[in-house]
Amino acid sequence: MPILEVNDLVYKYPDGTSALNGINFKANKGDMIAILGPNGAGKSTLFLHFNGILKPKEGVVKVKENPISYKNKDLLEVRKTVGIVFQNPDDQLFAPTVAQDIAFGPMNLGLNHDEVAKRVKESLKAVDMEGYDEKPPHHLSGGQKKRVAIAGILAMKPEIIVLDEPTAGLDPLGASQIMRLLYDLNKQGITIIISTHDVDLVPVYANKVYLISNGKIIKNGTPKEIFSDT
Ligand code: ADP
Ligand code: ADP
Repeated sequence: MPILEVNDLVYKYPDGTSALNGINFKANKGDMIAILGPNGAGKSTLFLHFNGILKPKEGVVKVKENPISYKNKDLLEVRKTVGIVFQNPDDQLFAPTVAQDIAFGPMNLGLNHDEVAKRVKESLKAVDMEGYDEKPPHHLSGGQKKRVAIAGILAMKPEIIVLDEPTAGLDPLGASQIMRLLYDLNKQGITIIISTHDVDLVPVYANKVYLISNGKIIKNGTPKEIFSDT
């Protein structure tokens, strides 16, 4: 059963830029999917449709088989299910401490203080950042900031995590630590969708690959199918 599905999605920005020209995409529960494509191909625009931040001009986005209705109540539910980690952690981390940053999402869900504190602890542990609770996020390294941003999403207990270029700007060690973390989360049952340029890391971790160019999916399949072609 698809947990996330996009049918014939078309999107134009208000300035007239055609960003997506008929995208079809499907993620099953438990998938770890990599979306590969050059700058400007439409990866970020597609991701913004996955939790209803953008509304298609044409086509449908379905989360757990329900088409997104774009009503506020529905969007809240969709954003609980689909968490997005943006490319630049500085767009996501703005509280004075790591703990407050991670607490932001679960507090917005209306959870009580004890439950929020519990989720902050669990999420920091999951990303291997225990003990960083009181640190200011802007003092952390790029890889650490990325892990805190992921912890903030984990604290919402999403079923799907979408990450835009999660390894961008990291050194090879930091990049493989992030991929390893995503792989572990995937093994715990969370569906993972990433965009990346890092072709070397993809075949190791993803079970499906989509190639996107000029707002269209030009190919999809297993890493073996995609990368064994000449
Ligand atoms: P990618 O993430 O693959 O680099 P994007 O989704 O950011 O691609 O961009 C797809 C296309 O949409 C590009 O032509 C880009 O210039 C354009 N685009 C992205 N954001 C905006 C925006 N806010 N307004 C107008 N055009 C945009
Ligand atoms: P990415 O490749 O990850 O999408 P970009 O550098 O393309 O990153 O975009 C960074 C930001 O600029 C995004 O918020 C995007 O929506 C916006 N943007 C990209 N292209 C345009 C454009 N042609 N006009 C306006 N905003 C744009």
